[in-house]
Amino acid sequence: MDYEVIDAHAHIFPEKIAENATVNIGKFYDLGMDNTGISERLVKAGETIGISRYLVCSTATVPHQVSSINHFIAEECEKYSCFFGFGTTHPLSESIENDIKQIRELGLHGVKLHPDFQTFDADSPDAFRIYEIIEGKLPLLIHCGDPRYDYSAPQKIRRICENFPKLKLQAAHLGGYCRWDDAEELLTGFENLRVDISSCMAFMSREDAVRRIKKFGIERCFFGCDFPMWNHKEEFERFLSLGFSRDENRLILAENFKNFYEI
Ligand SMILES: [Zn+2]
Repeated sequence: MDYEVIDAHAHIFPEKIAENATVNIGKFYDLGMDNTGISERLVKAGETIGISRYLVCSTATVPHQVSSINHFIAEECEKYSCFFGFGTTHPLSESIENDIKQIRELGLHGVKLHPDFQTFDADSPDAFRIYEIIEGKLPLLIHCGDPRYDYSAPQKIRRICENFPKLKLQAAHLGGYCRWDDAEELLTGFENLRVDISSCMAFMSREDAVRRIKKFGIERCFFGCDFPMWNHKEEFERFLSLGFSRDENRLILAENFKNFYEI
């Protein structure tokens, strides 16, 4: 492969629940799933385009799952040296402090939240407590956008950026799945905000994708496949067909990610 490629957004699940979890995500988004969300399958899928590293995560829909999910992600990172693991917490967790402490002790690199699955407003006081604790310490990958719910609407993500300027934030799906016009309008120009382009390109024209990526800034976008949602090879081809220059491709496919996460 000509380019180094990092997958900035991948989900993995413990084997015994992977099948169900995958079916449920497919139902939630009304999308056919391309794969089952287990590590072995992820690495196999990524090999088709020579992925060198994967940001892997999983979210806790209820607070009592937090600890076991964090352990699971850490164990998978030990098995697969190409994994860059993010843990999770929950705004209603008994102790967000302890969850964050656990994430750090396990050697995980950041926090993943999914307001729509976890049913909390991204700008609620409970969620703000999480950002307060991790600002300047651990990066946050947050799911953004849903046409049906407002939990992670770009307006709410913007309030995070305004209130926590030192928080390193990866806003998934170009800042707002199916709310791309709002995201483009409200989320561009924040210094510590990055976006991944997973689960986007299949839903927009080439022109829209290029304009939105440029609006966020070529140096602020990460390539990702939202495994098990999409086929790596197809997503990679979609990305290359956007027609960015060789240097721009290098940035989006790997360099921006390495710079931002200092690896
Ligand atoms: Zn995700």
